[in-house]
Amino acid sequence: MLSLTLLPAAHGDALWIEYGPARGRRRLLIDAGPAHTYPALQARLEKLKPAQRRFELVVVSHIDADHIDGALILLQDRARLQLQIGEVWFNTWAHLPAHARDDFAPLQGEFLGALIGLDAALAQTLNKRFDRKAVVVPPPPADTTAPVPPLPVVELAGGARLTLLGPNPPDLRRLRARWSAAIRDFTPGDAEEAKRRLLERREYRPPTGPAVFAARAYGDDRAPANGSSISLLLEVHGQAVLLAADAHARTLAANLARLCAERGVSRLKLDAVKLPHHGSMGNVNIDWLSRVDCDRWLVSTNGAVFGHPDVQTAELVARCMPAGKRAAFHCNYRSETTERLQDGAAAGGWSVVYPPKNAAAGRAGEGLTLELR
Ligand SMILES: [Zn+2]
Repeated sequence: MLSLTLLPAAHGDALWIEYGPARGRRRLLIDAGPAHTYPALQARLEKLKPAQRRFELVVVSHIDADHIDGALILLQDRARLQLQIGEVWFNTWAHLPAHARDDFAPLQGEFLGALIGLDAALAQTLNKRFDRKAVVVPPPPADTTAPVPPLPVVELAGGARLTLLGPNPPDLRRLRARWSAAIRDFTPGDAEEAKRRLLERREYRPPTGPAVFAARAYGDDRAPANGSSISLLLEVHGQAVLLAADAHARTLAANLARLCAERGVSRLKLDAVKLPHHGSMGNVNIDWLSRVDCDRWLVSTNGAVFGHPDVQTAELVARCMPAGKRAAFHCNYRSETTERLQDGAAAGGWSVVYPPKNAAAGRAGEGLTLELR
């Protein structure tokens, strides 16, 4: 049994994963959403008997507020909840490759690093399976004729296997160089970046102006924080799920191609894909979409802040589907932005699944659960 729940994490990600038999159910948490949606995660933990409050693994994919802020609260609430955590994967400042000029004050990353570092039990678990070093994909050999080593694989208790699909070393180097920019969204005075950010803000879009945004292209997300995302392939009991965090398209493309070569397949058969970056078109491209064979696509967002998802993402996913297959998009909110997917469904040849009616759009309900057997 494998179930994935996209908790109601507003514009962020909080994925609650369960696997294994009813007696001896195991749990993983991939990101914890922004601070104001923490109560949904808290309520779900409190529904469990204290003895069951355990995550085999908590992954904080990257330092953006919509993924990390809930984890800052969770770790401070851990003792009260009697929550056990087997392992934490997170790339702190100390895990990033050294840079010539380091004078930044990395805020949330510093907070989380401190919370873990000051808790002796938790500190033991940090990036344990990576020898306490960075969670990063080792680069392929410089000599292109030499064999490419396999991607890092971690076996978890209860028969779950994780294959690391990102970040790559250059992604971490870019984060190191731009740490404060990643926290603050952009460096003051960086007009190019400011403009790019502004173009992403749908609330500032002129009503007649779609052409203004035509320059926006598939796979163009260059934000260093997103690029540093820990992205994973989870395999358990014959099911396979791609957990793409907010990863860049080029990183996913490189490592999915590498994994396909490693396994001698042209496409990876998957039971679900958590779309990167809340379904933004900036994080999909043909290169990686054509490496997967999947009909369930998960979208975690209520559309607040960045206006995700993009209907163009659904269009490209549909175009890259293997012949004769239809994509279904599973959204954890029914909101103005996620309804755009529904508007394009008939013409695009895909379908859209929303949470049950009682989970009112934009309000903290149960989120969306997908049971895979
Ligand atoms: Zn995000």
